Amino acid sequence: MKKYVLIVEDEIKIAELIADYLTASHYQTEHIANGNQVIPHLKAHMPDLILLDLMLPERDGLSLCQEIRTFSMVPIIMLTARVEEIDRILGLDLGADDYICKPFSPREVVSRVNALLRRIKHLHDAPTALIDSDQGLSINHENYVAYFNHQPLQLTPAEFRLLTILSRLPIRVHSRQQLIDQLYDDERIVTNRTIDTHVKNLRKKLMVVGTETDVIASIYGIGYRWNG
Ligand code: CA
Repeated sequence: MKKYVLIVEDEIKIAELIADYLTASHYQTEHIANGNQVIPHLKAHMPDLILLDLMLPERDGLSLCQEIRTFSMVPIIMLTARVEEIDRILGLDLGADDYICKPFSPREVVSRVNALLRRIKHLHDAPTALIDSDQGLSINHENYVAYFNHQPLQLTPAEFRLLTILSRLPIRVHSRQQLIDQLYDDERIVTNRTIDTHVKNLRKKLMVVGTETDVIASIYGIGYRWNG
């Protein structure tokens, strides 16, 4: 069955271009130009992936992304006008899986869509649970949920992957570049700061559920290690 991608974009020409390329790559697409129509549409017909423009009439992509995450883990790629906005958006912790900067080539959009759906599938195919009894961490890849000390962690997809990567190899120090390579399996500009922001947000959430010390250790000049 064809995967269904919802394009939320108010610039009709951009939306049509993306839709053409996705259709050529055997995706089914629908297009919404107005932010207010997104949530009702999702309740009726949940897509396999959403391309979500940041600046929309009526309702912006930031608040939409936050609301979607209260009821769905559908993969979301945000479309933003400026690369500098990405770190700021990441800091807001909206729960998007990926970001593409305008102007972009439609080919790039298709490859990001492919990559994200592949990554999600890979996570689903991974062992269903990984239990670290000492740390009280358990990760369920089937429903995307992680628990710490029996308390659920409210993680974004990127944080979920980061937690999985770090805790799977608890002794190893992961450089930022290695984390970037594992978090994003395609060509793109991801800065070290992006990784630092993800780690910062993940640490905060781990602290909320009662980690005594930083379970993610910073190794000066190198990167991060799971302190399990
Ligand atoms: Ca726009």
